[in-house]
Amino acid sequence: MNTPDARSIQLEQNLAAVRDRIRRAAGNAEPTLIVVTKFHPAEDVLRLRRLGVADVGENRDQEAAAKAADVADAALRWHFIGQLQSNKARSVAQYAHSVHSIDRASLVGALGRAVAAQQDLDGRNALECFIQVDLSESAPEAPTAQGSGTRATAARGGAAPSEVPALAELIASTPGLRLAGVMAVAPLGAAPEPAFELLAGVSARVVADHPEAAAISAGMSHDLEAAIHAGATHLRVGSDILGPRPAVG
Ligand SMILES: *Cc1c(COP(=O)(O)O)cnc(C)c1O
Repeated sequence: MNTPDARSIQLEQNLAAVRDRIRRAAGNAEPTLIVVTKFHPAEDVLRLRRLGVADVGENRDQEAAAKAADVADAALRWHFIGQLQSNKARSVAQYAHSVHSIDRASLVGALGRAVAAQQDLDGRNALECFIQVDLSESAPEAPTAQGSGTRATAARGGAAPSEVPALAELIASTPGLRLAGVMAVAPLGAAPEPAFELLAGVSARVVADHPEAAAISAGMSHDLEAAIHAGATHLRVGSDILGPRPAVG
């Protein structure tokens, strides 16, 4: 066996600390940990794989597609967690196990067609689909003026809670797609608890119509405990495992 390099040792320690936090918050119903590797090289993905990580997250198709090709031999599940343009659906369907950021009907159509085409080529599994929910209405200090660029969650995306049931129905009835549940990012600059509580309510409404779609993707480095307490089944943790993201040019 090769001696682990310094980076692997650092990742192992960070991963152990995060897993410890998850265990303490979750008790025995442990959620799935998705390690978000955006801006970090494919070598780190391979190091994480050797440390037992099976689920990785990326938020840009170009970067994700390149990394997935680099580590194609690893039995990894790639989770797409960023805003997605419909014209990237064909690419995402080639490597993604799941998409967490579905926020509109046109994207459902594009993903359904892309996955069906990919299934004809290589028989891939159904794509697991999470509906991203905009939780800005849970943050009382967010300005309510329509179109305000200063709205706390303007850049975080997602469908309004009222739009979620129809999107869920559309995904559930699209061949090639499997409705997994809901996803959200807590609003910036506000306590995460009310946001995750709102998300749990949206999830309950989805589950009433689709009992199999009980997944809740919520919780990042700084708020994973709050997300676990609100019922998160999938956590998306980046910087507390990989360290700060390199500056982008
Ligand atoms: C980057 C990112 C994460 C991980 O955030 P950290 O704060 O680095 O843990 C989680 N979810 C989404 C949607 C992201 O873009």
